[in-house]
Amino acid sequence: MAFSKLVKPESAELLHLTVLRTERLSEHWMRVTLGGGDIAKFRPMGFDQWFRLFLPIGGDAGLERVPAKANRMFGYLKFLRIPDGERPVMRNYSVRAYRPATVERGAEIDVDFVLHGSAADGTAGPASRWAEICEPGEHVLLIDEGLTFNPERGTDRVLLVGDETALPAIASIAASLPASATGTALIEVPSPDDALAFPHPEGLAVEWIVRPHDAQPGVLALERVAEQELPPAPFHAYAAGEQSLASGVRKLLVGERGVDKGAVSFCGYWKVGAASPSSKAAREAAAEPRR
Ligand SMILES: Cc1cc2nc3c(=O)[nH]c(=O)nc-3n(C[C@H](O)[C@H](O)[C@H](O)COP(=O)(O)OP(=O)(O)OC[C@H]3O[C@@H](n4cnc5c(N)ncnc54)[C@H](O)[C@@H]3O)c2cc1C
Repeated sequence: MAFSKLVKPESAELLHLTVLRTERLSEHWMRVTLGGGDIAKFRPMGFDQWFRLFLPIGGDAGLERVPAKANRMFGYLKFLRIPDGERPVMRNYSVRAYRPATVERGAEIDVDFVLHGSAADGTAGPASRWAEICEPGEHVLLIDEGLTFNPERGTDRVLLVGDETALPAIASIAASLPASATGTALIEVPSPDDALAFPHPEGLAVEWIVRPHDAQPGVLALERVAEQELPPAPFHAYAAGEQSLASGVRKLLVGERGVDKGAVSFCGYWKVGAASPSSKAAREAAAEPRR
């Protein structure tokens, strides 16, 4: 995963959380709301806050064996020693929304999962499949990773670019910017229904790009950025999603348009044809047709 300079979280301890509910938002979106357990220890940072999520593909026993700092090298090596059939699947996701505790209920985090492939015919990735079929009461673990969106203090003119995997992050950035912020958000999605509207500052123009079925993810969004007139400096650009989109936007802005590299935050979220690491058992479970 290639990314620019990060803003570290306050704490990176393992948090045990529970699935409170799920909601199918559209053809390619499933919202999973997490809470309970250690939720009171979670520190929301807004913007594109992201985390490592450990999913109980081999049952809860595997979650109990995840070592502290499983997101760092030595912890990750220990994590890999969890036996194949028990080792949870570790994936990266964004905080789409955080709601603090009220008198009636504890705090909650919404995580919006892109459903790619299908759990019904065994073509989904393990995390996508889990999101499609998980049930309230299931346990997960989370390690906060902080932010990649990292503008100079006071810069509230933005160019935000992403495919559907970056929509949760872009929507959360839009909710965190001051009401006076201006700029453009260009978001590529797989169908018109997947263009989930989100509240944003009045001066932020949101442009949806609907990708035809046979188009490579990210290509149209990158073309659109190339045609785009850039906002006057200073502004901050953010690009996330398929690897070639994120790195392509950075190359275009910094290499061809002469934008200062500190003014571009970027993060490759996934790569066409390259699965994130999984145990053999998790890959087999994901490939199993759902009955
Ligand atoms: C910082 C960060 C934040 C992220 N936030 C989110 C988020 O909020 N919501 C979200 O949905 N994703 C998010 N992602 C992306 C997500 O982590 C990846 O899509 C991940 O690969 C999904 O895991 P999987 O087990 O479903 O598929 P994998 O096992 O990783 O991949 C299996 C196959 O599916 C393909 N694939 C993976 N993701 C997609 C996709 N989205 N569309 C089409 N094909 C795909 C792979 O190329 C591979 O061929 C984020 C990534 C990062 C780094």
